Amino acid sequence: MVDFLDVDGSIGEGGGQVLRTALSLSVIIGTPIRVHNIRAGRRQPGLRPQHMMAVNAAARICGAQVLGLELGSKEIKFIPGKVTGGNQNIEIGTAGSTSLVFQTIAVPLSFAARSSRVKLFGGTHVPWSPCYHYLALQWVTFVRKIGYKISLELKASGFYPKGGGSVVAIVKPVEKISALNLTNRGALIRIRGFSAVANLPRNIAERQRAQVVRRMGDRYPLSDIRLSELDSPPWAKGTMILLLAEFQNSQACYFSLGKKGKPAERVADEAIDSLEAFLSSKGVIDEYLADQILLPLVFAAGKSVFRTSKVTQHLLTNAQIIKIITNADIIIDGKIGKTGLVQINPFAVQNKDEEKL
Ligand code: ATP
Repeated sequence: MVDFLDVDGSIGEGGGQVLRTALSLSVIIGTPIRVHNIRAGRRQPGLRPQHMMAVNAAARICGAQVLGLELGSKEIKFIPGKVTGGNQNIEIGTAGSTSLVFQTIAVPLSFAARSSRVKLFGGTHVPWSPCYHYLALQWVTFVRKIGYKISLELKASGFYPKGGGSVVAIVKPVEKISALNLTNRGALIRIRGFSAVANLPRNIAERQRAQVVRRMGDRYPLSDIRLSELDSPPWAKGTMILLLAEFQNSQACYFSLGKKGKPAERVADEAIDSLEAFLSSKGVIDEYLADQILLPLVFAAGKSVFRTSKVTQHLLTNAQIIKIITNADIIIDGKIGKTGLVQINPFAVQNKDEEKL
């Protein structure tokens, strides 16, 4: 008989992240899980296509056995196998986020005995998820800093709703994961970034950039906001702007995606407003990285501490699910919407301590 660890998918905000984090940890630790109340906190609960893709991808990399995997399903059983590494092609479908699926498998693949080359097809720039460039410029920067050997390449951008993008990820076996200590960001060195279109007139990208220069140029060390035309299938189009603030000890990244009927200036305004909110806080890392860096840090060889610009439901929820599955000790000081200090006493260290007792 299989001994399943029960995971309540309705904890915290009860969204897709509970399921994805539970899957990653199940694969890494090798523990079978039964996830019930999947996405109970959402208007359309249960598995949506992009969540099924995350389950499929997690199953694929370790030859897991999965029960209950169907659209709308509120309960699955997942029995992981051993992660082998190697080549994988993962078709996510039109607008499913390649970033969210990759984040589900990236840490597990890092613990395989050999390297992996994963090609993901789907949406690379999808609302409510890290776009490809956020993943590559922000998440990958930090996970590499702590020792993960992950690199990404954008082959074609796939903007919501049509998708059609592809990304190649190389994940090499990890040797040592270091802790992160980021409580003081230091002085702002510069703000860089880019304004891009895919299959749309270049002047949209110019207007997005002009708005950044108009609103920020006098007050901040703006440098090098590049204009770019992204490769995309001819039937898909989109626009985006990304701003990356570099500090002495850290960096923060915000982006915004265009939408039909949304003026270029408003696209820029969204990214500027988010970055300015960050700059006026004492945050060292942005609120999105805060929830996305927890899982990679759980396997560090020591205690991590970082200050996030904003405590979010996402952060609290991800911390809660990680604590339930790994017994890692994660302490978050701060109120929702305000700056917070996050401390992570990792899984590995805690186990070692237990062995000593
Ligand atoms: P559901 O469909 O149940 O709402 P989901 O599968 O879309 O869930 P969430 O639980 O909402 O997933 O998690 C979305 C993830 O996307 C989080 O890790 C969050 O930090 C990230 N994210 C959302 N917006 C951004 C952004 N603008 N920049 C970077 N990351 C983002």
